[in-house]
Amino acid sequence: MKYMDAPAGQGHACCCRHPPFRFVDYDSVELGEDSRGAEVSLATCKSCGAIWLKYFIDEPHYPRSGRWWRVEIAAADASAMSAAAARECVERSREGFAGGSFFDSHGHAITAPIKVR
Ligand SMILES: [Zn+2]
Repeated sequence: MKYMDAPAGQGHACCCRHPPFRFVDYDSVELGEDSRGAEVSLATCKSCGAIWLKYFIDEPHYPRSGRWWRVEIAAADASAMSAAAARECVERSREGFAGGSFFDSHGHAITAPIKVR
């Protein structure tokens, strides 16, 4: 998949920046699982073109363990992104969103330091 940066100045009021997020608003590409079993995907906003890296952890044996993080990444990073690199990329980000039953949240803004746990 070829990624392009979203046009500058667009998208700040976009649905992809205001939770709750809806799956149908994105073109998603699954990158697979990392070594911890987290599901990694890239979701490109259909409205503004922003590219979001999503890192999702669900431990079926533990109730309310579902949790996810999503951060915006540049097109160059998206093209080279892999499941193995996702966690570090999320934790390196200055801001993003997190949510899931673990947080009892449909999505809330987060800022650095971002810690995936
Ligand atoms: Zn958007």
